[in-house]
Amino acid sequence: MAYTLLNGKDLALRMKKAMSAQVEELKNKGAIPGLAVIIVGNDPASRIYVNSKKRDCEEVGIRSFEYALPEDVQEEQLLELIDTLNNDDNVDGILVQLPIPDHLDEGKVLRRIRPDKDVDAFHPYNVGELMIGNHAFAPCTPAGIMELLKDAKIDVEGKNCVVVGRSNIVGKPMSMLMLHANATVTICHSRTKNLKDVCKTADILIAAIGKPNYITRDFVKEGAVVIDVGINRTADGGMTGDVDFTEVSKIASAITPVPGGVGPMTRAMLLKNTIKACIMHKRGKLS
Ligand code: NAP
Repeated sequence: MAYTLLNGKDLALRMKKAMSAQVEELKNKGAIPGLAVIIVGNDPASRIYVNSKKRDCEEVGIRSFEYALPEDVQEEQLLELIDTLNNDDNVDGILVQLPIPDHLDEGKVLRRIRPDKDVDAFHPYNVGELMIGNHAFAPCTPAGIMELLKDAKIDVEGKNCVVVGRSNIVGKPMSMLMLHANATVTICHSRTKNLKDVCKTADILIAAIGKPNYITRDFVKEGAVVIDVGINRTADGGMTGDVDFTEVSKIASAITPVPGGVGPMTRAMLLKNTIKACIMHKRGKLS
């Protein structure tokens, strides 16, 4: 069966082009969107993510501010920095690159970010707003998946959607967005019984597990749409998803590649949320 490749890289490029024009227009009206990124410690993966976020900002004209704190930073110092950024009018979005070292209370840190600057949408206020469908921001990965489906004109309404994974940053908000889009949603996790059978009921199957090639062909119904969120590093320094692409693409009607599927969309949505925050903050002041 011929499948549609859900090319996130291509859509993210198109979105960035449109966002560059939007930022230019905002600048002409006296508003420059700004994103502050806080990184704690020397985790190499976090460093790569932060660098790419900085590059993305530059590409579309968003001002980015990086704060690199030492591994042993005191929690109070980090919270003070967040307070300063909360009160800085040049900063529309604040994100703390996760994970942070164990001696820091992640919940407390995320709660300190002003909800209207919480462009990752991890603050419980934004989680609650998402739950009731009144959200300004949705977490970037699930929001990016919704854009990808919309762009490919894949109708979600009335479809059976199975989300494998229940994390706060992917699985749960993904399920909520699908529910708001009128899908019938099933959430699976490591204790789910008969996972294969449940997955086989999916018209839209979303894998956010973190296990390389876990979703094999026998998890997938013929003609299903398959979204692979997984990023798993391979021994040769490459990356692979949670879905066995070679086999699953033989029966799926549409599928995301890894890399080049969900990842670039996550990055694009961060820019989109930052621009949205800027418009919210500066609405009354635009010339
Ligand atoms: P996470 O917090 O580790 O959550 C993984 C989820 O998968 C958990 O809910 C876990 O169940 C479930 N799970 C684990 N093994 C399972 C199994 N054998 N059967 C069924 N469910 C199982 O991970 P995450 O942050 O959601 O990320 C998931 C993956 O997506 C990772 O590979 C991550 O790197 C990737 N990711 C990609 C992007 C992107 O932009 N592409 C963004 C974020 C994350 P329990 O809750 O029962 O433990």
